[in-house]
Amino acid sequence: ELRENTTVIVLGASGDLAKKKTFPALFGLHRNGFLPKDCRIVGYARTVMNGEDYLKRISQYIKTPTDEIKEQLNDFLSRCSYVSGQYDKDESFQDLRAHLEDLEHGRSNNHRLFYMALPPSVFKTVSDHLKKNCYPERGIARLIVEKPFGKDLQSSRDLQKALEPNWKEEEIFRIDHYLGKEMVKNLLILRFGNEFFGATWNRNHIDNVQITFKEPFGTEGRGGYFDDFGIIRDVMQNHLLQVLTIIAMERPISFSAEDIRDEKVRVLRGIPAIEPKNVIIGQYSKSLDGSKPGYLDDDTVPPNSRCPTFCALVVYIKNERWDGVPFILKAGKALNEQKTEIRIQFKDVTSGIFKDIPRNELVIRVQPNESVYIKMNSKLPGLSMQTAVTELDLTYRRRFSDLKIPEAYEALILDALKGDHSNFVRDDELDASWRIFTPLLHYLDANKEIVPMEYPYGSRGPAVLDDFTASYGYKFNDPAGYQWPVTSAS
Ligand code: NAP
Ligand code: NAP
Repeated sequence: ELRENTTVIVLGASGDLAKKKTFPALFGLHRNGFLPKDCRIVGYARTVMNGEDYLKRISQYIKTPTDEIKEQLNDFLSRCSYVSGQYDKDESFQDLRAHLEDLEHGRSNNHRLFYMALPPSVFKTVSDHLKKNCYPERGIARLIVEKPFGKDLQSSRDLQKALEPNWKEEEIFRIDHYLGKEMVKNLLILRFGNEFFGATWNRNHIDNVQITFKEPFGTEGRGGYFDDFGIIRDVMQNHLLQVLTIIAMERPISFSAEDIRDEKVRVLRGIPAIEPKNVIIGQYSKSLDGSKPGYLDDDTVPPNSRCPTFCALVVYIKNERWDGVPFILKAGKALNEQKTEIRIQFKDVTSGIFKDIPRNELVIRVQPNESVYIKMNSKLPGLSMQTAVTELDLTYRRRFSDLKIPEAYEALILDALKGDHSNFVRDDELDASWRIFTPLLHYLDANKEIVPMEYPYGSRGPAVLDDFTASYGYKFNDPAGYQWPVTSAS
């Protein structure tokens, strides 16, 4: 439940994440009546700003198309205040405490939700100082942390160790914002609330699974951060593996956070480390027409960087349900389109009456334009027995036209305010996910002769991609054989 007497403290409030995600999400919650009535929001960072500049900065990404929303924003801003201070000084955090106590009017059971919108280099110092100077005496303390959770298994464990003395696991909320996405939250319902999916959800019926993340833009002058991480750490080890986990896990005993996370950890433990032979990596070059720059043309990227901006890799799960089924994860920047989707391709129907009838596919599009569709064979109406690929289609925009899909960050901050951990990453889950990826990451880092394959900005990825997916069993339908009727809703 939501508790009164809660203060949200955003550390790093001057930064990019705070302005783009944290504050717009807090405003969304405010607007829809989901913040506790007296909830105050305190920003903290080193930048010295007066109140007005601060409020201007945090409103920057909040759109106010109507007078009503403008008024709601003013109302929201009256909850907000700012304290400037260092990350490594007791005095600064004592100032913060004094400000919090001021807002709390001497009530004894005040709850504090600390949101670390900070670079990981200062996590430890800030966490130590918060514990020492700002930990609520009687109320509940919660700490939201953001990726990156390390760069490999060891650094992730080091980060965890840095938090451990001060924060209990139940106080920590590790955000993977994919877990807050509407369609990802729907996966459990789709799988376990529909007998026809439940019955076919295994190696006997499913040939292969693709989980794809595509972005139509490159680093666009912000390559510094990206180059340190690369697409595998930035998107695959966390977001795509989370999606895979929910697709592959067994049915949890209940919807409680620990029951769900127990099953997630169990399936992750059944996944052997990714083998380099099941991986291709790519890096984008100039677009074919020369109008878009290559990755190495970005001034913030080191010359000769071998950083992958594209990767396709295959994960296997050694259990009774999934043995032998390839889960193909694909992620790339500067591709031909934006989408995140899960594509489950079923096995061929037994031969005999048909020759070459396309396979069924269940596609769950996470973004944009959420939808779930099944590509299904049907008789073409008419006097012949010709078949056609058609679809059973659930397009959210059409089916749920009057419902708003909440932003992932809104959903997650609300969960953290309620103390619900279901959609946050548990420590052992993080450990298990790094164990799957670390050997590959170390292998790529150590073997300088492995260079990513080039692909032009705006293409679908390296030229070998389609042979790669085909070699794991994916059968591509001739696009002439399936046409999606474009309507206003698509
Ligand atoms: P950021 O803008 O670089 O940093 C946030 C604030 O931290 C800055 O305004 C700055 O505030 C302070 N800061 C920056 N560099 C520092 C340094 N070296 N030492 C001490 N303080 C420093 O970072 P961000 O993009 O907001 O990201 C915050 C966290 O969220 C990071 O862990 C990031 O990986 C994660 N994240 C970000 C995004 C995103 O969209 N930006 C998405 C997912 C996750 P002052 O100088 O005023 O103290
Ligand atoms: P598709 O765009 O034809 O892609 C199908 C799969 O084949 C993807 O995994 C794609 O990989 C891969 N692929 C594309 N070209 C290939 C090639 N030349 N060789 C081998 N593999 C290739 O998807 P679809 O599901 O059949 O849908 C067709 C269109 O209809 C899409 O635009 C879709 O959005 C639309 N549609 C919309 C809805 C809806 O809005 N509700 C419902 C049904 C269909 P990559 O992903 O890596 O490119």
